[in-house]
Amino acid sequence: MAVHLHEEDLPADVKFADGPIAVDTEAMGLVPGRDRLCLVQLSDGHGDEHLVRFGRGSDYSAPNLKALLADPNRLKLYHFARFDVGIMQAYLGILAAPLYCTRTASRLVRTYTDRHGLKDLVKELLNVDVSKQQQCSDWGADELSDAQRDYAASDVRYLHALKEKLDERLEREDRVALAQACFDFLPARALLDIAGWPEQDIFAHDG
Ligand code: MN
Repeated sequence: MAVHLHEEDLPADVKFADGPIAVDTEAMGLVPGRDRLCLVQLSDGHGDEHLVRFGRGSDYSAPNLKALLADPNRLKLYHFARFDVGIMQAYLGILAAPLYCTRTASRLVRTYTDRHGLKDLVKELLNVDVSKQQQCSDWGADELSDAQRDYAASDVRYLHALKEKLDERLEREDRVALAQACFDFLPARALLDIAGWPEQDIFAHDG
C-alpha cells in the first residue's frame, strides 16, 4: 500500500483494476470559478492511492486522467460528488460520471443523524478514525507535506468499503432506486452550480 504523487497527469503505465474508482479533489477553496483545482486523488480500492497535482498556470490537459474519469463504463465513487464533478467540469472540461456518492447515500439511509461528513461515516460504518486536520490547508503550495499527502490519499481510501456498507442499508430501507435516481441527476446539479445556480433549488416554488 503506497501513495503515489504525479505531476500534471497520470503516467500512462499506471493501471487500475476493473470496477469502480474512488475520486476526490482538493482546490484552493470551494468556489470553482475562483479557486483553482490543485489535486485529483484516485484509488481502485486495492490499496494504492494516486495523487495527480496541478501547478499554478497548468493547462489541465492531462489526457490519461481525463480518459479514465470520462470513461462511461467506469463508475466513479465520491464523497460529495457535487463539488468534485463541478470543479473537474470547470477545469478539466470532462463530466466524471457515472457516479456513486457516499454522502448522498448516507443522507438517504442515515436519517437519524445530520452528521454526514466522511469522518463520521468512516467511523460509524467502518469503525476507523481518520483525521481531517489537513482539510483546510494550502493545496497550492509548491511542495505538499507528508501530512497533506496522507490526508489527500485517505479521502479516497475508504470509499469502496463505504459503498458496500451503504448499499446494504439502501437495500434494507428500500431506497436503491431513489439513490440511483439521485446519482443520475447529480451531474446536472453540479452543472447548475457551475452555470450560476449554486444555491437555488430550481424545483422550489419560491425564489
Ligand atoms: Mn478531500
